Amino acid sequence: MVHIIDGKEIAKKRKGEIAQQVEVLKKSGITPGLAVVLVGDNQASRTYVRNKQKTCKELGMHSVLIEYAEDLPEEELLGKIDELNQDESIHGILVQLPLPAHISEMKVIEAISPDKDVDGFHPINIGRMMIGQDSFLPCTPYGILVMLKETGINLEGKHVVVVGRSNIVGKPVGQLLLNENATVTYCHSRTKNLEEHTLAADIVIAAVGRAGFIKQEHIKPGAIVIDVGINRNEEGKLCGDVAFEEVKEKAGYITPVPGGVGPMTITMLMDNTLKSARNSLKTLQSTK
Ligand code: NDP
Repeated sequence: MVHIIDGKEIAKKRKGEIAQQVEVLKKSGITPGLAVVLVGDNQASRTYVRNKQKTCKELGMHSVLIEYAEDLPEEELLGKIDELNQDESIHGILVQLPLPAHISEMKVIEAISPDKDVDGFHPINIGRMMIGQDSFLPCTPYGILVMLKETGINLEGKHVVVVGRSNIVGKPVGQLLLNENATVTYCHSRTKNLEEHTLAADIVIAAVGRAGFIKQEHIKPGAIVIDVGINRNEEGKLCGDVAFEEVKEKAGYITPVPGGVGPMTITMLMDNTLKSARNSLKTLQSTK
């Protein structure tokens, strides 16, 4: 019998713990604060931003939304980030991606102080993660790690095949699992004979961005299948990168879409914001 990994439930538990810790922190005079910057009018971005703000509120955190029109000059955005870097009431800064084409995403990511980089995209945090130092972990990979651990899956020695090598999902999730002593293979659009790789995997992580791309023939019986994809199928219905109905007949564990990785991502953003607020309390206490 396949085990459906319930991301919603795991996220709910974690959010409960975060809310409790926020209360404790507030007693020391610090309310974790997240600034979300939205440029332009991308509807999907607007929905993500709304959910992030709603979750902040639920967990007792402070959140501010800074909205700009599509034609915002890059300099102005960089100036705002600088201001937020100095703002003591803000512990996390998130600039919603994608940005309009005239703004360099890398410049913007690098402008955010690594101490407030709760998305975990800054090269300093990525570097720290690579060498196993304490850092802000990118939210989706971090969420996947927590989800696997909460499900009681021992990662040591497991063969993980990551399909996708983006900077925000594929590459960091492989690195995090390597840090947990898994054996990691990366596949991408130039990989030859994808099936040969995925069929050998104890854990397949699909981060491709194509509806139903991973099928039953890609999966070894009993494998653990983590679906990161968020796509719309021909009927406009939300679906993942895995053909869920057929793969669940063969897999040992599988995450659904929606209700799998998605709720974990936003939860880990809250976790990172809490961590940043705690760090700022430690700094305050050490300078007293
Ligand atoms: P990208 O488009 O940045 O990366 C897609 C990756 O898939 C690339 O590395 C690409 O390879 C690879 N790929 C494309 N076609 C193939 C193929 N035929 N065979 C093997 N590999 C292929 O996407 P993201 O990583 O940003 O996102 C992936 C999915 O996850 C999307 O659906 C996105 O919406 C979703 N997502 C979900 C989140 C969540 O919270 N649940 C958070 C972030 C993303 P190459 O590098 O060679 O081009």
